[in-house]
Amino acid sequence: MLNLNSDIQFIKGVGEKRAKLFNSLGVFDVDSLLHFYPRKYEDKTDIKTIAQVQNSQVVCIRVAMITPVKENYIRKGMTLYKCRFSDGRDVLEVTIFNNKYLAESLKLYNEYILYGKIEKNFSVSSMSAPQIEPADFKAGIYPVYPAKNKLNSRAISKVVSTALDGIGEIPDILSGEIRRKYSLVPLDTAIRNIHFPPSSDDIAPARNRLIFDELLILQLGFLKLKSGKKKETAPIIKDDFTADFKKLLPFDMTKAQSRVTEQCIADMQKNVPMNRLIQGDVGSGKTAVAATLIHTAVKNGYQAAFMAPTEILAAQHFETLEKMLASAGIRIQLLTGSVPAKQKREIKSRLLNGEIDLLIGTHAIIQNDVEFKKLALVITDEQHRFGVRQRAALALKGISPHTVVMSATPIPRTLGLILYGDLDISIIDELPPGRQEIRTDVVNSSYNSRLYKFILDAVDRGEQCYIVCPAVEENELDVKSAKQYAEELADGAFRGRNLALLHGKMKPAEKERVMKAFADGDVQILVSTTVVEVGVDVASATIMVVEDAESFGLSQLHQLRGRVGRGDRKSYCVLVSDSKSESARKRLMTMKKYSDGFKIADEDLKLRGPGDFFGQRQHGLPELKIADMANDMDTLRITQQCAREILEVDPDLTSPQNSALALRMNKMFENASYS
Ligand code: ADP
Ligand code: MG
Repeated sequence: MLNLNSDIQFIKGVGEKRAKLFNSLGVFDVDSLLHFYPRKYEDKTDIKTIAQVQNSQVVCIRVAMITPVKENYIRKGMTLYKCRFSDGRDVLEVTIFNNKYLAESLKLYNEYILYGKIEKNFSVSSMSAPQIEPADFKAGIYPVYPAKNKLNSRAISKVVSTALDGIGEIPDILSGEIRRKYSLVPLDTAIRNIHFPPSSDDIAPARNRLIFDELLILQLGFLKLKSGKKKETAPIIKDDFTADFKKLLPFDMTKAQSRVTEQCIADMQKNVPMNRLIQGDVGSGKTAVAATLIHTAVKNGYQAAFMAPTEILAAQHFETLEKMLASAGIRIQLLTGSVPAKQKREIKSRLLNGEIDLLIGTHAIIQNDVEFKKLALVITDEQHRFGVRQRAALALKGISPHTVVMSATPIPRTLGLILYGDLDISIIDELPPGRQEIRTDVVNSSYNSRLYKFILDAVDRGEQCYIVCPAVEENELDVKSAKQYAEELADGAFRGRNLALLHGKMKPAEKERVMKAFADGDVQILVSTTVVEVGVDVASATIMVVEDAESFGLSQLHQLRGRVGRGDRKSYCVLVSDSKSESARKRLMTMKKYSDGFKIADEDLKLRGPGDFFGQRQHGLPELKIADMANDMDTLRITQQCAREILEVDPDLTSPQNSALALRMNKMFENASYS
């Protein structure tokens, strides 16, 4: 008798050797086998005659073999076997490739069921490499599994069928109440039907149920992570010094900045760790919010850490924050990988003695050997360059500081709630007053000579220009490559100016060197890939040109556009595209129409679906077997609600009714980088 935990090798017909093959597919026991779903189905329910079907249809037909097989040797490794079949009225020519065994097994005048794509040309009908079944085969819908190595789909299907016969009813992990509320079929039905649907109408309900389960478990995991954090204790930042700090700022905070600051301070006044994402468009003033929080933490006698994704960004933040915080008597130190060992040791000891209030650096500062005396607040800038992994690393240090992640990537709110399910979210949805609008134009490459002249004029006034290309090198996609274009421009239109190349395949030190030269004004024109997306501040950069702009996501274009207009000079964004596609043009025009990143993200979501948002970030999320984040958004939302309802009644999932859910949740998250 099998149960869900039975090892795969004990299923009849498997054994030790085959078990290894199953293991390589991630299947270890009956349970994981039943959750190894078919990739698609072959519908062999309807058996037709040749006359009934149309050209190119994939069909099942019943025919008898009417000519012997003719072997046709083409070359080494390629032998064709041809013969004719008939359904009593029409004739079908069949070609079999290389399968001598099959060809020799066919018997003249016997009946077979053929499944494949039919080609109808004038009077001749033919099928290439059809599946050939005996006439007594069982009509039905057959699963096709993602096969691998020596384990083909048919073999997998047989083992699944044996397992299903041997286990009895599969216990449900959801209560009848939840199933009724969300119109879900029982788990037993869903599992049996996803593998062997009695009819094509049974597939969708089975899929829906299994997708629901998977997303529900994902949401439960996120919510549990969040409430788990709430069980850790964090330092209480008792007094709020925001008002004092506001007096030191050279400007008035916007309403949005004040609101978000308040939300964070309120979190920090509790003894559970804050775990918050601050989303704010480029230029919305996230740094001032960060500085305010740091100031309050330090004035309460604690230390803070600030992390940036690259060394130049860390250095830039150091300069900005020092200007803001030094006058308040806060001791700031920059620590990056390039600090010599001796100095590093000295910094570490001052940190441990509490002689440094704020440490700024790259991820290097969360490495194990850096210890703080009283760390209470960790702020990470430009979240999209840090994965979930780094977030987890901090928590592992045995301390539970309050954490804030700042992101300039506007993602639609609904998606944010799901993607960052373990975080609270604050949004700075307002720009400081007087911000200049960046003029955006969409042009095709026939404008190039005018564009070059426009760039030259700006450069000769002391301004700088970015030119972004979709690819590093020449490629099949036939989009502009940064390397070639940089060469072409350096020898051509921009001869005599300082032009540099920057791309992701360069060594980090080399990238930093080029970026610094640009920031210092030594490089006038920077031809690059999207590596410039990360927020280095270059006040005299006024032109952003994006080549083959249609190949970028709108949110990405928005990020790129945010690289200019950082100073007070009039700035421009030129989107170059030769695409003839109407939808591409529409997307690019959205950039001209809107300057608000959230608005653009919403449009992008509408025009392209959520795939892109998930694509960039999916890493770090547990692997999903059947749900597709991009297409199952509605279910994602519903399951979030359902997960809340379940946890409200049973916060630790300890009731017997929820034990199976808890088990599944742990399984899903054990392989993700979360744990
Ligand atoms: P981001 O959110 O992109 O990190 P920054 O924090 O770098 O934005 O702020 C962009 C610029 O706006 C900085 O020069 C900053 O001094 C300025 N700034 C921030 N807040 C305000 C405000 N409330 N009023 C005027 N200028 C502001
Ligand atoms: Mg910033």
